[in-house]
Amino acid sequence: MPAIHYRNTPQRKLVLDIVKNRHDHPSADEVYEQARSTEPHISRGTVYRNLKLLSQQGLIRRVQTIGGVDRFDCRTGDHFHFMCEGCERVMDVDVPPGMDVDSRIVPPEGAEVHGHWVILRGLCSDCLGKERL
Ligand SMILES: [Zn+2]
Ligand SMILES: [Zn+2]
Repeated sequence: MPAIHYRNTPQRKLVLDIVKNRHDHPSADEVYEQARSTEPHISRGTVYRNLKLLSQQGLIRRVQTIGGVDRFDCRTGDHFHFMCEGCERVMDVDVPPGMDVDSRIVPPEGAEVHGHWVILRGLCSDCLGKERL
C-alpha cells in the first residue's frame, strides 16, 4: 500500500496543478491531454482516478453540465456556472452575497437537502457575436 501511494503522488500533484492553473473548467480528457505533454506515460485511467480522488478530497470541484461531460474546477467555493449552448464553454457565475438558496427553496415533503447545483445556460458573447454576422 505505501509503495502505491508513493508512486501515485507525483501524478496526483501533476493532475492537481493542471486543474489549479486553468480557469476554463477542463474536461477529464483535456486534463489528460495536458498531463501527457508533461508525463508522456501517464494513463487516462490514472488521470481519471486522480480527478475523482481530488474531487472527493475537496481540493477541486467536479462540475456536472447539461448533456455534456463533467468538468473540473479549481474554484471550490460556492458559485454557479453558465454553460454556453454554442461552444459548450463553462464560465463562473458569482453568487450574490447573502443568497441562501438551500433555505429559500422548499424541497419535496420529507426530503433532506444536501446542496444544490445551478447551471445557467444560454449563449456567450463570442457566440452571440458570431450569430450577428
Ligand atoms: Zn459560446
Ligand atoms: Zn467554476
